Amino acid sequence: MDADNYYIPIDVGNLAETILKRAEKYDVDDPLASFASLFMKEEPSLVYLDGNSLGMLPVATKEHIRDVLEDEWGRGLIRSYNDKWWNGPSELGAMIAPLVGAGPDEVIVCDSVTVNLFKIVMSVLRDSRRNSIVSDELNFGTDLYIAQGVIDLLGGRHRLELMRSDDGITVSDKELKRLVNSDCALLSLSHVSFRSAFVYDMERVTRLAHDNGAMVLWDLSHAAGAVPVDLNGAGADFAVGCTYKYLNAGPGAVSFIYVRRDIQDKIGSPLWGWWADADPFSFNTDFTPAKGMKRFLTGSVPVLSSTTLRSSLEIFRLAGMDRIREKSVAMTSLFHSLFKEYLEPLGFAFGSPENPDLRGSHVSVKHPEAYRICKALADENEGEWTVIPDFRVPDNIRVGFAPLYNSFAEVAIAVAEMARIAGEGVYEKYSDERGVVT
Ligand SMILES: *Cc1c(COP(=O)(O)O)cnc(C)c1O
Repeated sequence: MDADNYYIPIDVGNLAETILKRAEKYDVDDPLASFASLFMKEEPSLVYLDGNSLGMLPVATKEHIRDVLEDEWGRGLIRSYNDKWWNGPSELGAMIAPLVGAGPDEVIVCDSVTVNLFKIVMSVLRDSRRNSIVSDELNFGTDLYIAQGVIDLLGGRHRLELMRSDDGITVSDKELKRLVNSDCALLSLSHVSFRSAFVYDMERVTRLAHDNGAMVLWDLSHAAGAVPVDLNGAGADFAVGCTYKYLNAGPGAVSFIYVRRDIQDKIGSPLWGWWADADPFSFNTDFTPAKGMKRFLTGSVPVLSSTTLRSSLEIFRLAGMDRIREKSVAMTSLFHSLFKEYLEPLGFAFGSPENPDLRGSHVSVKHPEAYRICKALADENEGEWTVIPDFRVPDNIRVGFAPLYNSFAEVAIAVAEMARIAGEGVYEKYSDERGVVT
């Protein structure tokens, strides 16, 4: 701690200024600083730190979607299916591929993450003689519910086994070795944990599963566009991922699914829709699965909420995942060191790994009054800044850093505001009544 930065918790008056100065040095040297102007932002006092739930709108998307509406739908009408839309799912998949270390013919865009999870879990469990699917207790609801639903559909002969977390943040190798055994058909994990941002070592975990004869499914929802991912390098079998979080494709945008090339034609999807047929316009009475990733489609892929990916992925291509990761680590590290100085003394606890190599692009901080602190942070009529993180039960304030549009100054503002609101008891003005979406 610098002597001149010494901070007495009650005196939060100068805090913002002191730490802003520190953060602004990083912004001056940030090679990605100019990318923020590619995103729509109208409120100067808004500090948006929830790009891990819903990314910001790229300005180019506004024009692109207008063209799709007016030219492709308005003027082109049904003709646009041949000219533009039919191959959209494969083209967009090929654009996502470099972000996740996949070949262009290994990723396709369709359906929601939830539906894509179902296709894989159902296929693998149905065809395996093994009886367990392994996940961890930190995993996202939908990933676990789909596993439970598939087990129910298949008559209850399988079981879902959850690796335990001792600290609520990480999962140990001991747990992996305990459950990934000769009865495990599928290991289904989030690469970056949605609450704590813990990152599994994809290559090592995949190898361990393969050594035990299990297949591996990675949910990349909090990883794609946030951390470099190398599915091919790790030998991963399956992956799914979200496009409306770090990939900025808009609310409810269509998700993606990856299946390793050499198993694509051995694995069938359980949902036999016409877009998955080898010859959709033959309208045969019997289904013949398409070759390659197309067999994982179901029905019509929403054009409007998948084409939004194009303009966003172009920004990722220009920025490059290496630079994005470098800035992300610098941001979460700055947050961590400011946290140690200013938030820990006020009763906050760090809910993410301290080692940046084990951490994604968001961090969780815990506080008994987390919910009311979030409300105060986001209140436009309170304080100079409107800071939007999100709240995750039971006591997590989740702060997402999107290197494409967040600045280091915003990291500092978030810390200063959290310190002010907790240190001065500002949150006491707010009720603990919860909205549906937190
Ligand atoms: C966001 C997220 C999802 C979202 O699923 P949808 O079906 O797109 O609503 C699924 N899994 C994880 C791990 C997520 O973070």
